[in-house]
Amino acid sequence: SEARFRAFLDNSPDAITLKDAAGRYLLGNKEFERLTGISSDSLHGKPEDEVFPGNAELVAAIMEHERKVIETKSVVREEREAEGPDGTPRSFSITKFPVLDRAGNVAGIGTTNVDITERKKIERMKNEFVSTVSHELRTPLTSIAGSLDLLIHGVAGEIPEQAMPMIEIAQKNSHRLVRLINDILDIEKIEAGKMAFNYERVGVGELVEQAVTANQGYVDGLGVGLRLVSNAETASVLGDADLLMQVMTNLISNAAKFSPEDGEVGIAVTLSDEAVRIAVSDHGPGIPEEFRERIFEKFAQADSSDTRQRGGTGLGLSICKAIIERHGGEIGFETELGVGTTFYFELSRWRDAGGVPAAGAALGGPLQLLVCEDDPDVLTLLTMMLEREGFDVAPAASAAEAKRVLGEVEVAAMILDLALPDQDGISLIHELREDAATADLPIVVVSAKAKEGKRSLNGDAFGVVDWLEKPIDPKRLFSAIRRALSRVTGHKPRVLHVEDDADVLEVVRAVSGDDVVIVPAGTLSEARRRLRSETFDLVILDLMLPDGSGVELLANLHGPDGAPLPVVVFSVKEVSGDVAARVSAALVKSRASIDELVETIRMLVTGARGDPG
Ligand code: ADP
Repeated sequence: SEARFRAFLDNSPDAITLKDAAGRYLLGNKEFERLTGISSDSLHGKPEDEVFPGNAELVAAIMEHERKVIETKSVVREEREAEGPDGTPRSFSITKFPVLDRAGNVAGIGTTNVDITERKKIERMKNEFVSTVSHELRTPLTSIAGSLDLLIHGVAGEIPEQAMPMIEIAQKNSHRLVRLINDILDIEKIEAGKMAFNYERVGVGELVEQAVTANQGYVDGLGVGLRLVSNAETASVLGDADLLMQVMTNLISNAAKFSPEDGEVGIAVTLSDEAVRIAVSDHGPGIPEEFRERIFEKFAQADSSDTRQRGGTGLGLSICKAIIERHGGEIGFETELGVGTTFYFELSRWRDAGGVPAAGAALGGPLQLLVCEDDPDVLTLLTMMLEREGFDVAPAASAAEAKRVLGEVEVAAMILDLALPDQDGISLIHELREDAATADLPIVVVSAKAKEGKRSLNGDAFGVVDWLEKPIDPKRLFSAIRRALSRVTGHKPRVLHVEDDADVLEVVRAVSGDDVVIVPAGTLSEARRRLRSETFDLVILDLMLPDGSGVELLANLHGPDGAPLPVVVFSVKEVSGDVAARVSAALVKSRASIDELVETIRMLVTGARGDPG
């Protein structure tokens, strides 16, 4: 029996080990020996740190993994990167499970290690393929959808009565395809860590009300009611309003799709001291037991025959989950077959410092900010903007200078460009953190390193008015323009559109309609000329122009009153590292971003000072 057991273990292609309840190895199989070079005999009786001496990180990860198994008395699966026996990097899926005695106590822990390097590689290839195809598809598709929209809105004159239904079908379906492709690209972006998150203070009451308004039409169309059961006007969270709205929309449309006719979807907000919980309930069929575990997976649908009937891709919930998790929140559901389902998410509440005054000066005397930035133009720009907000600025063009300033004056916060001439910004942060005097200094990073790309540009510190990708989604473009122009009164808003692609110029002009004057400029020099002689309310900016980079324009974009002009930036598919690094700084040109920057600083400063009263 022992020989048979041993043969069974040693012939397994997966590495298997067994430990006792105290965490000492009892056995390992041949594959484990091959992977680690440790034989079963020498393994026996040893705890983890003796088996992998000198690899504290791995030992800690294993212990943490096992702690979870013991605590929950259930199977816990993790993925880990490690070196293979030949020194090459491999990926492993590691499953640990409790070995229970008759009384149900944990008597040991079993582990299987499966090498999933090949699977990961194929997954990556698949993702790259899907992403490339989607990008390539999106370009022609948005033109098709955009052109059909224009036709339906009568841009080309009256459509014959007989043709209209067909054009409407084409329009509806082209939008469906655009949605699908956007979903695929969204999820891919989130997974690759490239999704732009624009964090700001979001009022929960407003968010929920907007979600109701925005989805009312869709829900009505399904013959279902939508009711706000409870709201919380006073609470807010730190989040990306657009993305939270996307989550709300998804949960509401799912609830409506699965509601019986005449059913009702309820939205309820509940508050605790720390958190806000937003729940969307329906009286639908509930989620089948066997599907519950997979529901947040990509392309997962309980019944794929639903796709045609109800529309949907099985991507919505996985996008929601990714968005909520990036907000540091939690998403989940409660469901009962034949009764209904409630999906909810929970986010931390915004901690109000209590009546924080508007400008830096009002935070208790002019606060000194250290701005560490080696580009003189950007430094000037940041200084101007921050001074206007009532801060005192101490400039530093290098890490050495920053350290000197920190030794001489007391600064409330530091704004740091990561790409400095004399030291890598990250290592500077580490250094400052190790010094007791600066260990708690609030630091706002405003630079983007090539590798981190767009995400850090639009990341936590601040963002642009809006960041649109080519090809343009006319609706998004239009709403971005609308938002930027909402403050213009007394004249027709004038927009300078800097763009060298004639098709894009044409579509934007057509989409914007007659309420707005769009002035095209195909080159940097033309844009400069126009900016000198005319006044504008908004600039739409392409970064890649025949005679240079659109970034160069950002330094001299002012309205007639000297205030910064709002800018909507178009990025091309990939923003190259050096463009990215410069744009990040220029993004503060836009009103929205400087607000966010100031807001970020304020949060950090009030946090560091404790209770400002
Ligand atoms: P889809 O775009 O297909 O709706 P989701 O990721 O949003 O994709 O949802 C995935 C699946 O989860 C749905 O196809 C459905 O099977 C199930 N589901 C989601 N919400 C509900 C709900 N409120 N009631 C019942 N089933 C639901």
